[in-house]
Amino acid sequence: MKWSQYFLKTQKEIPVDAITASHKLMLRTSMVRQSVAGIYTWLPLGLRVLRKIEKIIREEHDESNCIEISMPTMQHTSPWIRSGRLDIYGKELLRLRDRHDNELIYGPTSEEFITDLYHGFVQSYRDAGCVLYDIQLKFRDEIRPRGGVMRGREFLMSAAYSFDNSESDALNTYKRMFDMMNRILQRIGLPYIAVRADAGEIGGDYSHEFQMLIKTGESTSYYKENYDAQVQNMTGISLSDINDGSFIADDLLSEITSNLTETDSSQASQPESLETFRAKIKNSDITISNLVKQHSIEVAHCFYFDDKYTRSMDEFVTNANGQKEYLKMGSYGVGVSRLVAAIIDASHDDKGIIWPISVAPFHVMLINLHVNDSATTEYANDIYNNLCNAGVDVFYDDRYESAGIKFHDADLIGIPYRLTVSKKLYAENLVELKYRSTHLTETLSFDECMCKIAAK
Ligand code: ATP
Ligand code: MG
Repeated sequence: MKWSQYFLKTQKEIPVDAITASHKLMLRTSMVRQSVAGIYTWLPLGLRVLRKIEKIIREEHDESNCIEISMPTMQHTSPWIRSGRLDIYGKELLRLRDRHDNELIYGPTSEEFITDLYHGFVQSYRDAGCVLYDIQLKFRDEIRPRGGVMRGREFLMSAAYSFDNSESDALNTYKRMFDMMNRILQRIGLPYIAVRADAGEIGGDYSHEFQMLIKTGESTSYYKENYDAQVQNMTGISLSDINDGSFIADDLLSEITSNLTETDSSQASQPESLETFRAKIKNSDITISNLVKQHSIEVAHCFYFDDKYTRSMDEFVTNANGQKEYLKMGSYGVGVSRLVAAIIDASHDDKGIIWPISVAPFHVMLINLHVNDSATTEYANDIYNNLCNAGVDVFYDDRYESAGIKFHDADLIGIPYRLTVSKKLYAENLVELKYRSTHLTETLSFDECMCKIAAK
């Protein structure tokens, strides 16, 4: 992609209410633009990142035998009336009336919708065991949307829902989905931890939040001091990586009198219930003062909520004895748009974003410093074409701008590899390669440069 033909204008002035690094940087790089509070247009650069995250999420869901559907954003209230949640969800639920006076909601989550949908097709226990998912916009009328897309009102979420015959089948599914969440976050490649959590509005007994560790995060995660080094240095950490690891989510803190602990869930075939976990906390010898406290933001969540929705909505299957049976459900959500902001907060410096290669909008930024010089431009164009032909995601700064502006913008946008071409480099048949994350610079032939890029 050539910048001269792209829709991207970096911004100097941004609104004063943009406080967090990710919010500022997403506005300065024109990744998004606010429409009204908490509602954003995704502009081309931002959309590329969003789509890359979506791709990772989709691949891992498919790999975990989840089946994709696409549910509507607007839902009828009747399933919500049946579950009893319409009146208790609160003001975050956006309600509308259509011209026929039907009351609709803009879906904040889809437990009711999918329970109804699923049982429209599945009436026998033999057909249970399936996980359906979609990646769709959600709406929650947050009282204080903040941090840009970090806490929006309209946001993109991937949501999977499982239906199983027995608690043991359901918990095996939970474990499979828990492992899938770890793979998604490990592919993104930034530090996070899985913490025990209360299931909140959705309800249920088993719940894990996946918290990305960022200084400005609105949650607080606690973990054992000796895991600190691992959390900081590893590209991802999962319960299965830690024998007897300890973590605790902020909302459990008030429950803790003195101690907490967590077993390695990979040792057990199924996760332990929150109740068991809390009992262990009380009986363990770890004190809260021994724990490392770090700000974090929830980017994904697993819930197991048994037959809460199937029973309350009276949606059932017939079991082997011809009797009524309520399937056991779980839900598994990833904040796709929130992840974009969380990644930037976890990976930037004072000059701009430092994209992990896994989700970078482009892999290579090619800069021509002497656009006015026809020979240099021909050389740069050749390099651009070679990169494109080799299948490299390249963004080519072919604008008539000064070197200062081009380098400044390249640092701001944060594409992992910066390739510079100038009159002098052209004369020597070389290019300059700079790594955004380490600032390391090398002068190389184009072929050498390609080897370095391909190796990553
Ligand atoms: P939070 O506690 O941050 O309000 P939640 O626990 O209510 O989130 P879930 O119902 O678990 O959210 O939704 C699944 C995922 O959707 C969350 O893990 C989060 O990443 C994302 N998410 C939730 N609310 C928002 C929002 N307002 N803006 C952006 N992403 C969100
Ligand atoms: Mg949650």
